[in-house]
Amino acid sequence: MESELTRTLRLKPSTLKVLIIDDSPDDRAEMRRMLLTGSKTRYRFVEAELGADGLRLFRDGQDARPDVVLLDYHLPDMNAEDVLAQLRNGAELPPCPVVVLTGSEADAGAELLRAGAQDYLGKTWTTAESLTRAVENSIERFALLSERTRTAEQLRASEARFRQIANTMPQIAWAARPDGYIDYYNERWYEFTGFSRHEFGESSWEPILHPDEVQRCVDTYFGCIRSGAPYRIEYRFKDRASGGYRWFLGQALPVRDERGEITRWFGTCTDIDDQKRAEEKLEAIVTERTAKLQETIAELESYSYSISHDMRSPLRAIQSFAQILEEECRDEVGTRGREYIRRIVTGADRMDRLIQDILTYSRVARADIALENVDLAALLNGILEGYPQFQSPKAEITVAFPLPRVRGNVAALTQCLSNLVGNAVKFVPPGVVPHVKISAVTRDKRVRVSIQDNGIGINPEMHGKIFGIFNRLSRDYEGTGIGLAVVRRAAERMGGTILVESELGKGSTFHLELNGESWD
Ligand code: ADP
Repeated sequence: MESELTRTLRLKPSTLKVLIIDDSPDDRAEMRRMLLTGSKTRYRFVEAELGADGLRLFRDGQDARPDVVLLDYHLPDMNAEDVLAQLRNGAELPPCPVVVLTGSEADAGAELLRAGAQDYLGKTWTTAESLTRAVENSIERFALLSERTRTAEQLRASEARFRQIANTMPQIAWAARPDGYIDYYNERWYEFTGFSRHEFGESSWEPILHPDEVQRCVDTYFGCIRSGAPYRIEYRFKDRASGGYRWFLGQALPVRDERGEITRWFGTCTDIDDQKRAEEKLEAIVTERTAKLQETIAELESYSYSISHDMRSPLRAIQSFAQILEEECRDEVGTRGREYIRRIVTGADRMDRLIQDILTYSRVARADIALENVDLAALLNGILEGYPQFQSPKAEITVAFPLPRVRGNVAALTQCLSNLVGNAVKFVPPGVVPHVKISAVTRDKRVRVSIQDNGIGINPEMHGKIFGIFNRLSRDYEGTGIGLAVVRRAAERMGGTILVESELGKGSTFHLELNGESWD
């Protein structure tokens, strides 16, 4: 927006309208003469003999308003101070610059300036030059002053608006200087604290702060004041009404000028006590329920562990007696009997595998998993050498050595890798030689081990399911549906995760993400 000053200077009228209020025709003529000879500016004169006449001209509307008034100190109906007072009508400045011409009352100068005149000159010693200069300077100074007055008024109005808004807020609101000194609180503060009005300062909130929180609040507050970072902290204030403490959320933001310098901080304190207590209650309930749930899960796990364990001895009896039957009563039972025995042995073997897998799953969930730095390459070599189905020509497995070391547990890692590689060579279409590629990359202290196969692939809709216990997508392949559940648990217990990328018919890649080795 264009300022009053620039407008005045730019639009400085080519003809200045001068109102001369003086009861002496000679003096008025002399003033006109002096102005016309004193500068190149063109003037248009309006004259009044009495103060009342001069004032009336102002009331005639905007267009009639002069650019400057030359005012005789002594008028028949009033003196210059009365005219000025009426011109100002309670405002700080009169509507246009006024230069007073005094007679012998030169000592009234200071009074006149206070009354709103821009300048004063003694009639007897005024020259064309001094009058012209006084008029022009007054116009410029007046423009400057009106601009300043307007800015101050705008500021006052905006502060008043701010206070009004701040006082209608349900929260406590405050404002601080850039150094953190609080110089404003809204009404809520005084209602809540009962402090006397206009008690300010950087430590004005300390007396009602919970003693345990003073240091933390002071450190956080002044840390933000120094760094300019937004301020946000929870603390307890003493509640005058109940005598206890209530939780508040304190927040503040800096206001910056066009150079980015902080000029002010505005903050609020919001009563979050009810919310906080509800949260605490909820947290307590959740903790209690989680503990109960964990207890139940632990009980169930130990129960299923012991059942699974106990089931192995009758199973072993079935296996042993089936074997004895096969060896000692081969002839008596005949071909059909031998077929039944074979089915008993197969069923018992499968049951044994299932029980062993369940035991492994429980063990991975329950056992203490101590983490250490593990040489992934050595561990993988050991696994690959240990199983005939991982050897060529049954499977072609390539490993992109060298592999990084990881933070893990040897037993858990063995479970993960042997299950993943086992699945990779198992789930291939009939007659296809499994091709498996194993590689690892390190990023941000995490190691991602990838096992890629050329198998049957997995429908993306099933990706979420396969890590659950007993979930098998096809009955055409042997298995218990526990392997990937073991992998997921083992990975989680090492601070890792397991992911799959796969589509039906396009092979699968399983990513085991682990922490890289560390010495913490
Ligand atoms: P299991 O191998 O005993 O069947 P898992 O828990 O290891 O059980 O795997 C669950 C299911 O996920 C498997 O039955 C199979 O359907 C699918 N699956 C796992 N790995 C692969 C793979 N590499 N390719 C295709 N399907 C797989």
